[in-house]
Amino acid sequence: DAPADLQRLIEAGIRDVPDFPEPGVVFKDITPLLADPASLKAVAEAMAAPFAGRVDAVAGLEARGFILAAPVALELGAGFVPVRKAGKLPAKTYRESYDLEYGTATVEMHVDAFAPGSRVLIVDDVLATGGTGRAAVELVRRAGGTVVGFSVLMELGFLTGRDRLTGVGVHALTEA
Ligand code: AMP
Repeated sequence: DAPADLQRLIEAGIRDVPDFPEPGVVFKDITPLLADPASLKAVAEAMAAPFAGRVDAVAGLEARGFILAAPVALELGAGFVPVRKAGKLPAKTYRESYDLEYGTATVEMHVDAFAPGSRVLIVDDVLATGGTGRAAVELVRRAGGTVVGFSVLMELGFLTGRDRLTGVGVHALTEA
């Protein structure tokens, strides 16, 4: 976990919204944190720090992962790569589908998003069931990248998403 002062910024900056987007889900809303300059900077630095010196590209997961991945990439001197929901990326892509509670979801990444052999850090706001993260790991590997880790702002421990990411170093600033 992050040091106490950062932990306080995170606690103050993430708002629980019950029953969004559907009954029974407590949505972790990071928009207050993003709106606070000191919190945004501290969080981006802390999400990047463990991976300093060993990242060529940062893959952000649509949509909130994009917002965090860009400053993390700048911090690491790395490039930014979008992993998007199906049908959004314009050029040739790899696709990975995964099961949701009801139905499936599909994510895509450009086949030429980074050079083969690149060291890639995956970034998102919240790790929940790990389905999205698992699919992103597969995409990076199919493109010839090495996954150096999965950096998230918050991990929902009770959903055990980490268990779906065996062999991937998961770094979470805070857990709920
Ligand atoms: P999962 O694939 O289950 O790990 O879900 C991860 C994705 O869904 C992330 O991109 C999160 O932004 C989003 N997500 C899942 N659960 C929540 C939640 N309770 N609050 C905010 N975002 C969530």
